[in-house]
Amino acid sequence: MYLSQRFSMPSPQLKLPTIQNWNCHNCGGCCKQHQIEITLEEKERIEKQRWEEDDSIPGGKPVIVKMGLTPASQRYRLAHQEDGSCIFLNEQGLCRIHAKFGEPAKPLACQVYPYAFHPAGNDVAVSLRFSCPSVVSNLGERVDRQEAAIRKIANQVLPKRYQTPPAPKLTARESVGWPDTLKAVTALSRFFADKEIPVQTSLIRALGWMELIEQSRFSIIQGERFTEFLELITQAVDQELPPDLELPRTPPGRLGGIQFRLLAAQYARKDTHAEAAKGLGRRMSLLMSALKFTRGKGEVPPLQERFKSVPFAALEEPFGPLPEESEKLFSRYFRVKIQGLHFLGAAYYDIPFVEGFYHLTLMFPSILWIARWIAAGEGRTALTAEDVNEAMTIADHHHGYSPVFGMPHFRSRVKTLSRSGDLKKLISWYGQ
Ligand code: SF4
Repeated sequence: MYLSQRFSMPSPQLKLPTIQNWNCHNCGGCCKQHQIEITLEEKERIEKQRWEEDDSIPGGKPVIVKMGLTPASQRYRLAHQEDGSCIFLNEQGLCRIHAKFGEPAKPLACQVYPYAFHPAGNDVAVSLRFSCPSVVSNLGERVDRQEAAIRKIANQVLPKRYQTPPAPKLTARESVGWPDTLKAVTALSRFFADKEIPVQTSLIRALGWMELIEQSRFSIIQGERFTEFLELITQAVDQELPPDLELPRTPPGRLGGIQFRLLAAQYARKDTHAEAAKGLGRRMSLLMSALKFTRGKGEVPPLQERFKSVPFAALEEPFGPLPEESEKLFSRYFRVKIQGLHFLGAAYYDIPFVEGFYHLTLMFPSILWIARWIAAGEGRTALTAEDVNEAMTIADHHHGYSPVFGMPHFRSRVKTLSRSGDLKKLISWYGQ
C-alpha cells in the first residue's frame, strides 16, 4: 500500500480499472502471505476486543507483537500462527475479527488489500495486487462498478488535506510534469489493448518505444509538442516493429542469464514472517542458493516448499506457445499495472517512468520462469494456464513491495538487462 501524504485536493477522483473484476473469495491467501503492521490506534482497538478471553485464538497466544529496538522505532504487527498465517485466521480461512466485529474493525491494511492507490496528477489511480488469486482469475464484480466501496477505503487511506505530489521523473535526467506523464502512461497502455497482438510482441514494441523516450531530451518538448512526439515515436515503432513481428528464440548472453536468474529467484522467494524467523540458518541457505543461481548448473535450489528440485537446464527448454488464457491474463496484468501507475514513482521505489517499465517488463520472463519450475516439478514440458496463474501470484507478491528491488544493485541488474538487449531476448526465450 503506497500512499502519498502530499496531495492537496480535498477529494481526488478515483481512476478505476475497467477491465478488472474482483471480490474476496475468502481463500485466506493474503492472511498467510503478509505480515500485517498495525498503527497504535489499531493496536488499541484490537486490545479492546479482548481476544485474551476468546479461546478460539490458537494456544492462547498474544495477538500483537512489538517491533523495533528503541522507543522511537517501536511499531506493532499482528502475531502469526505456527504455519505463518495471521493469528486471526480461523480453520475455515475466515478472519476472526471480521466474523466477530465486522469488516471496519479489521486493520486498514487488511481492508485495503488487494487495492493500491497511487497519485496520478490531481486524481488517484487504483491498481490491484496480482498476488491475490481472485485478482489473477478475474473473479467477482467489475472493479469500476464498486466505486462507492472503494471510495470508503480510499477515504481512510488518503490524508484529509493533501497536496498533489510532483510527477515521477520520465527518465533519470528528464521530467515533464503530470499532464505529459499521464499522456505517456495512456500511450504506453495502448500497446497492450489489441487482443490480436501476442503479449510478447506488445512488450518488445513497448520497449522499442521506451528506448526512443530514453534517448530524447524534453526541455522544449512539452504540452502539444509532447503529444506530437508521442504520436511520432508510436508511428516509428509501427514501422520498425510491426505487430506481426517474428520473434526469434535467442537465449540471453551468459552475463544476462546470470543477472536474470538472480532476479527471478528473488521473485520466487517467500518472504513471510515464518520464513524470516528461521534466522541465520535461512540466511546461510539463501547465500548458498544465490551461488547456485549464479552458476545455473545442476538442480535449482527449492526456495520455498511449493517448488520441487528440478535441473536448471529443464527451465531452458522450449515450453511451446503460451496458453490462450495466459495471453489474456498478461495483457490484463500489464494494462492494470500501467493504468494504475503501479510501476514508477510513489508506487515503485521512486523510480522514473522508463526504468519502472523495464522492471515491469521483467515480470513477464520471471513469471514464466517460475511457471516452468512449477510445471517441470510435475514432470511436464508445457505450461497450463494454472501454472502461469500461480506463478503470477508468487512473483507479484514482491512487485513494488520487496525493498530489495529498489536497491541500487538490483536496479543496476535490470538496467544492464535492458541496455544489453537481454531483456528482449528473455521475453521471447521464456515466452515460447
Ligand atoms: S486480521 Fe483478519 S484479514 Fe487481516 S490478515 Fe489477519 S485474518 Fe487476515
